[in-house]
Amino acid sequence: MRLHFLRLSPVARIALGLVGLLISLLMAVDLVFGLLPDRSEIARQVRQQLSESLAVQATAQLQAGDMSALQHTLREVLERNHDLRSVAVRQNTGAVLVQVGDHPQYWRPPEDGSSTLTQVRVPVFSEGRTWGEVELVFRPVLPESLVEWLTYPPFVVLALIGALAFGAFYLYLRRVLEYLDPAKVVPDRVRTAFDTLAEGVMVLDEKGRVMLANNAFRSFHPDARELATGTPANALRWLVSGFHGSPDDFPWVRAMASRSALSGETVEIGRPGDDEPLRAIVGCSPIQDGQGRLRGCLVNFSDVTILHRINDQLLVTLTELEASKDEIRRQNEALHRLATRDPMTGCLNRRAFFDAVDPLYATLLAEGGEVCCIMGDIDHFKSFNDRYGHAVGDLVIKSVAKCMGASLRDGDLLCRYGGEEFCFILPGSTQEQAAEVAERVRYSIETQAGAAVRDIPGLRITSSFGVASIKLGAKDAPELIDQADNALYESKKSGRNRVSVWSGARSVGAEAEAEA
Ligand code: GH3
Ligand code: MG
Ligand code: MG
Repeated sequence: MRLHFLRLSPVARIALGLVGLLISLLMAVDLVFGLLPDRSEIARQVRQQLSESLAVQATAQLQAGDMSALQHTLREVLERNHDLRSVAVRQNTGAVLVQVGDHPQYWRPPEDGSSTLTQVRVPVFSEGRTWGEVELVFRPVLPESLVEWLTYPPFVVLALIGALAFGAFYLYLRRVLEYLDPAKVVPDRVRTAFDTLAEGVMVLDEKGRVMLANNAFRSFHPDARELATGTPANALRWLVSGFHGSPDDFPWVRAMASRSALSGETVEIGRPGDDEPLRAIVGCSPIQDGQGRLRGCLVNFSDVTILHRINDQLLVTLTELEASKDEIRRQNEALHRLATRDPMTGCLNRRAFFDAVDPLYATLLAEGGEVCCIMGDIDHFKSFNDRYGHAVGDLVIKSVAKCMGASLRDGDLLCRYGGEEFCFILPGSTQEQAAEVAERVRYSIETQAGAAVRDIPGLRITSSFGVASIKLGAKDAPELIDQADNALYESKKSGRNRVSVWSGARSVGAEAEAEA
């Protein structure tokens, strides 16, 4: 099992190394310049003084023969000096006269009779001769156990310096190495590979900071050229202003939060001095390590500006095409109108009229349906021309045609048959209904057509009509029209301004007002 928690971050490792270096330096400086007091030397001097003054006192008490006072003195000294383990007074004979502490256990003097830092012997003189010695056993200067080490002042000072230095180094290095963390360095060959891509690529760390931006990405905006590694992607104003919504809605933020890839969002990047924004489709893929921890996000941008431009141009072309189609339709309608209508009155011309009437009549005849024809002719029209001129004659024709057209229903046909002659076809009408229509038209011409010719006040216009029905046996449309024309002739003959109905051999004059 690998102990991940023991694995130190690169920053912590560098900080530790620096602490080690600092402590080594401190120790070296101490060695050369003696910054810290030499504890062994101090201990040696203190111990020597203590031992000698004790020897002086012991000599006095021995000479006085006061053994209990000597014993008391040794005990006092032992109790007052924490450093002291045991004390004894030994005669030259080797016999121990007085001892305090567990002296036999601790007393291990060097063979050569000298003193050490822990085993000290001081001669005792009596009457000018060496009588014996005072033996003192001291504790070692350096700690002996871990607990002692932990409370050993130089060690505590060093540990404190080390801890403080580590803290300071760590914080400082973290700031400094923020952009240089070896764990986040992208190898050159990876960088080069990204630079060969035509797509813009930005690699973010887990905190959304840019670890790599390839050449294509840097070409998106002038500000992107100087993009520093470690800059938070959310702080790239030129980029994020192209997205809608809050920073939580930026695609890489959402991709990292959901740990799932996102694609299809379009960003619009406005560029100084460029009317057309750069448009790119953004894709985001979160990066995870072997343990499933989020390590960052790969963000790619496909430049679709040209596609959009072509699309826009296509739309313009389509709109223009639509407009030209409308124009063509309008022109076709105008052409059709020119080909089928009389330009002066707007009524059907004869060709268009017969194109429609011939098949219609044949069908109705076969089906036994109703259809009637009305022929109309302006009375004494020639006199308008003669009296007021041809232009007024034209106005009269237009005015009469207008009255006729106003009385048409859907499906009825009106043709300018000749100069001032008109022909109606009324599908579905009986002879009686057709006669009523003719009478209505006659009346409206008599009462309204003259007033419409404003140039000649009080102008009186009348017209005569002939009506024929399919039911009277006409085998085709021209025959039906002939019958209606015959009826019209009857109207002219019997005084004009009236309606006559064709009734076989001769027409029957309908009720009509005689012309004045
Ligand atoms: P009636 O009552 O018997 O119908 O007499 P009318 O004068 O109307 O008869 P007629 O058919 O003799 O006269 C028709 C005249 O209409 C002949 C022609 O000069 C004139 N005309 C034909 N077409 C036009 C036209 O488009 N404009 C003008 N101003 N006159 C036309
Ligand atoms: Mg006429
Ligand atoms: Mg005529």
